[in-house]
Amino acid sequence: MSKIPVGILGATGMVGQQYITLLNDHPWFDVRYVAASPRSAGKKYEEAVAGRWQLSKTYAPHVGSIKVEDANDVSCAVSAFKKKKCAFVFSALEMGKDETSALEEAYAAAGIPVISNASAHRWTPDVPVLIAEVNPHHTDIIPMQQKKRGWKNGFIVVKPNCSIQTYMIPLHALVQAGFLIKKIIVTTMQAVSGAGYPGVPSLDTIDNLIPYIGGEEEKSEMEPLKIFGTILNEEIQNAVMPKISACCNRVPLTDGHTACVSLAFGLKKPSIEEIKKVWASYKGLPQENNFPMAPKQPIVYREENNRPQPRKDRDTDKGMAVVIGRLRPCNVFDIRFTALSHNTVRGAAGGGILNAELLKFKGFLR
Ligand code: NAP
Repeated sequence: MSKIPVGILGATGMVGQQYITLLNDHPWFDVRYVAASPRSAGKKYEEAVAGRWQLSKTYAPHVGSIKVEDANDVSCAVSAFKKKKCAFVFSALEMGKDETSALEEAYAAAGIPVISNASAHRWTPDVPVLIAEVNPHHTDIIPMQQKKRGWKNGFIVVKPNCSIQTYMIPLHALVQAGFLIKKIIVTTMQAVSGAGYPGVPSLDTIDNLIPYIGGEEEKSEMEPLKIFGTILNEEIQNAVMPKISACCNRVPLTDGHTACVSLAFGLKKPSIEEIKKVWASYKGLPQENNFPMAPKQPIVYREENNRPQPRKDRDTDKGMAVVIGRLRPCNVFDIRFTALSHNTVRGAAGGGILNAELLKFKGFLR
């Protein structure tokens, strides 16, 4: 099977670099087009990232020699599309919301599907916010989005904020097993790579904790409701439950977002042992169909009372698994636990690739 050629917008950034390395040996997709800001445009990829490459793995030799294009110039991607070098793009751009939103729409209007990591379209009612295991059925809105906007081949899907999968996947497992979740209190401890490169100044982070990440608490409280929502009248209508209260903190770690979660169930309350069984057997469409980027077991439960730990657990199953520990009764709600996932892999590029695999599986990417 020949691979689908893909493009990466924002290929030089923190998330873009993860895309490049995770796609090194991907069996379905091949990176053939890269774009970033006008600062990088015109350079070879290896020149554009020289001195600011952040990962221990490197890029494939053929990617190093690709010329970086200006992501603002959609005509370059259209030309690559016509030459069969870019069938769709991953968007990992860090720009203003309105600029990102307009640019992603311009790619979709030009016939190029956009799989985005940016937050710009997370609240657009006909754009699905996908976690491949949790709401794969939300891809059903794509033909409605295309019809409404007069787009033929192009469309936009997004993935949620980089900490949400840490608790959305375990919550979805419980909801799917028939347990209604009414309330959630979540406190996150988020790594500095979540702010991109160069991100938070080192003097602000080292030996410190910053109890504020702009916009993060609002995203954490609202995005799960869209993910749990229903397609109605060609829009995704938000779920009304669970009610979520979030506190988000920046901590001096390179990678890995941890969440301490307390849950209140409806009338039917699972025991601790039932919850562990639900998590151990949880599988979604990516696992059932052996998608290349899918973790074999999306939720890994650790019995040791001092796990999960970011340094030891964030790379579990290619950085795509959510690692949970410390499940116990809660004195205020019903249960509490600690969960961890890799923010630039599962929470960004790896999650984006899994969404692309889902879209290919469903026939949206050719
Ligand atoms: P980053 O390290 O700052 O990289 C930003 C990328 O956008 C770079 O390639 C940069 O190109 C490009 N860019 C900046 N200004 C531009 C402009 N005016 N025109 C065209 N391209 C421009 O950011 P990041 O952490 O990778 O994040 C990328 C996106 O993913 C953001 O929307 C972010 O919110 C989202 N996200 C990040 C994470 C995470 O954990 N970091 C997780 C989930 C989602 P140059 O290199 O040429 O400047």
